Amino acid sequence: MKCDPNLYRAASPSLAVKPRLVRHLFLPPLIIAMMIGLGYIGFWISEHYGIRNLGENGQRQLELHARAVESEISKYTYLPSLLELETSVSQLLADPTPEHRQTVNDYLEGLNRRSRSRAIYVMDTTGRVMATSNWRDVDSYLGEDLSFRAYFQNAVRGQPGRFYGIGSTNGEPGYYLAHGLEEHGKIIGVAVVKVRLEAMEERWQRARLEAFVSDENGIIILSSDPARRLKSVVPLSEETKEKLARSLQYYWFPLNELQPLARETLSEGVEKLTFPANSELVSDDENISYLSQTRPLSDTPWNFTLLTPLQDLRREAINQGILVAVAFALCAFLLIAWNERRKVIATRLAAREALQEANNQLERRITERTTDLRASNERLKGQIRERRQAEETLRRAQDELVQAGKLAAIGQMSTSIAHELNQPLAALRTLSGNTVRFLERGQLDVASTNLKTINELIDRMGRITASLRSFARRGDDKGQACLGKAVDAALQLHGARVENTPLQLHRHFDAVQVQIDQTRLEQILVNLIGNALDAMQAQPLPELWLEGETFDGKYRLRVRDNGHGIDAEARKHLFEPFFTTKPGEQGLGLGLTLSASLAAATGGHLGVEHPASGGTAFVLSLPLVSPTPAEPI
Ligand code: ADP
Repeated sequence: MKCDPNLYRAASPSLAVKPRLVRHLFLPPLIIAMMIGLGYIGFWISEHYGIRNLGENGQRQLELHARAVESEISKYTYLPSLLELETSVSQLLADPTPEHRQTVNDYLEGLNRRSRSRAIYVMDTTGRVMATSNWRDVDSYLGEDLSFRAYFQNAVRGQPGRFYGIGSTNGEPGYYLAHGLEEHGKIIGVAVVKVRLEAMEERWQRARLEAFVSDENGIIILSSDPARRLKSVVPLSEETKEKLARSLQYYWFPLNELQPLARETLSEGVEKLTFPANSELVSDDENISYLSQTRPLSDTPWNFTLLTPLQDLRREAINQGILVAVAFALCAFLLIAWNERRKVIATRLAAREALQEANNQLERRITERTTDLRASNERLKGQIRERRQAEETLRRAQDELVQAGKLAAIGQMSTSIAHELNQPLAALRTLSGNTVRFLERGQLDVASTNLKTINELIDRMGRITASLRSFARRGDDKGQACLGKAVDAALQLHGARVENTPLQLHRHFDAVQVQIDQTRLEQILVNLIGNALDAMQAQPLPELWLEGETFDGKYRLRVRDNGHGIDAEARKHLFEPFFTTKPGEQGLGLGLTLSASLAAATGGHLGVEHPASGGTAFVLSLPLVSPTPAEPI
């Protein structure tokens, strides 16, 4: 099958190679860049939404724990003002006798135990401690001058005194709530409750909560992480530090600043803080980030800050980023694989389509050819029919011609036949007359001899008429003939002429059976021998050669004479009907034509040769009945 080469024509190399090269060079870096980009976007989105969720969750935690801090502090708010109602306190302040002091000490001790506060004490307007719940302790406040304390100074002016500080006596931190005790509209002393808030720190630690409370100076006063305690969350000027140091509020602590590595404000009260890896606040080597949420505590100038670690979130975001990058890589890989497969399928489809197209073209061509062939077949059939009809007509005409030829030959030979018959007839007449006379004389021997001669003459005449009858008979295309017999019959037919000339006959052929009707073979040979005899009429030493040989399944009989030969012009028309060079009635010009036709009708052939030595040779080749040659004659 031949395919259309256009369908398979490849793209020019420059066009085919370039995009592939570009794809191979740029695709991998592009995919890697997109993986990194998308991974980062995935990380960023995950972190962003994670922080938002953490923020929402943290807000609830912040609210919850800030409320807890507020309720812890507010629990004691009214405790100092209750002492106003206690008459023993006012008596002590009015008359500070040891009895009154002891009464108040006992009262405060009991009150402190019940309220679970750290200490409760009463000061006079000068700031000296008049009575205290811890009067039994060695480091009791009794008699101490605490007028420098800000909570006293506020309370003595009638304002609520709130203060977080570290005790100057024992260095213990505490929250101080002070209240100015009034009597008849005049401040007669100050009642103070010291509360320990460390319980809250322990609670946060137990709940694994990172939180701290910073006071009005920005100093962390409560922290789940002890390392952050008494650090400042805002930058402190030297002046402020000096002032705070003098106030002894934070005892002698250095009040270092809590310095994050990075600080990012996300919204009001919400920050992202990163502490360095080498910070004392973190134990491991990594920088640590927190979501810091701050809310002011009511009734105090303090702030509550909740720190939510972002490591898990960061790790989660990194995982998400990696997941996105891997998913993209997978998608890209699948896409490339799909694209490659699609291309392979497209190529296969194109090839299949091309094949289909080629098939269709082939089928179309076959159909066209078949139609043409059918038409030409029909034409051929028609021609064959016509040819057969023509052949039939020709055969009939040939038969007629053969018959006519035979009759013509008989006509030509009639003179010699008549001569041939007249001679024995004359002899018969003489012999029969003589025989009658010999019988009358009684010479029976001589009469018997004459009768024998008469009998022989009659036989000869019978043979002549039998040959003529057989020659004139209509023949058949099929049949078998014996070559020897046919030659004998032909020579016999020309018997008179052969005998009347000094002809030298050379017989060199085999007694073969050939595929032709016996009569027809005889007829051909009569013609050929007759022509040879005619050509040799002027030849003083006429010679006739009859030579045979087997060749290619056929038998060739060459009839050669040493006659006058055939001139160049006559050679062209030899086998044309009615071509003759013989004068008058002698030639009809049918002999060779009929002979060639008879030979061809049985699959044989009649040809002519012009030997260089002179004369003419006619070659008759006829199919053999049996391929094995017979005995030579
Ligand atoms: P016809 O014998 O009636 O002329 P033929 O067809 O038999 O017709 O022969 C045609 C012619 O071919 C003859 O007239 C003769 O000129 C020539 N011819 C045939 N045989 C020979 C031969 N053996 N030698 C020379 N001429 C021949």
